[in-house]
Amino acid sequence: MAFDILCDFDGTISRSDVTDHLLETLARPGWEALEDAWTRGEIGSAECMARQVEFIDASPAELDAALDQVEIDPGFPAFLHAAQGLGARVTVVSDGIDYAIRRVLARHGVRGLALRANRLVVTGARSYRLEHPHAASGCPAGTCKCAVAGALPAAPSLLIGDGRSDFCGSGAVDLVLAKGALAAHCAEIGRRHVAFGEFCELTAELPAIVALLAAEAPRRTVAA
Ligand SMILES: [Mg+2]
Ligand SMILES: [Zn+2]
Repeated sequence: MAFDILCDFDGTISRSDVTDHLLETLARPGWEALEDAWTRGEIGSAECMARQVEFIDASPAELDAALDQVEIDPGFPAFLHAAQGLGARVTVVSDGIDYAIRRVLARHGVRGLALRANRLVVTGARSYRLEHPHAASGCPAGTCKCAVAGALPAAPSLLIGDGRSDFCGSGAVDLVLAKGALAAHCAEIGRRHVAFGEFCELTAELPAIVALLAAEAPRRTVAA
């Protein structure tokens, strides 16, 4: 069965939030106030991150060195392989930074995945800018996951995630695999979901999840 998996990156594939790690490691003071404004709901994540990235003061080599400290859930590559073997088209959909995601995944042997994320642009020897090629009007996120989900071809779809950036997309797919704040959000609003902690659990449950997905998405055309 062909189906789509939209998978969050920060806190879902990666152990920690990569953008936070880059800011804590490489940014000049001042970015924390923007984080506070975002936490209070005064600015959206797109504006927050774009302004924070301008505080990074690092050469590309220093950026790479910081990225090479990032660890991922060790069960993700095996999950990816198993899911693709069952017909999944996997897209990483992230409100994080495209370059960072590609570098971290490649260091863990994962290459060639489709990716929808904010775009890092080098603007000088030690400076960067963030662009939002997957933003949507009316959505404060840099990458609007509900817009990405809505643009999928007609096939059953899964979203895997852990946090606030996944809330909008979780309403636009057939089934949600959730941990952290996303699992709490799904429970609170009564959205059907499978709670998990580590990718190795999902790999073990994958045949059952695919069967559940097929039953959850009867209104959709299932492409062979
Ligand atoms: Mg996340
Ligand atoms: Zn959205």
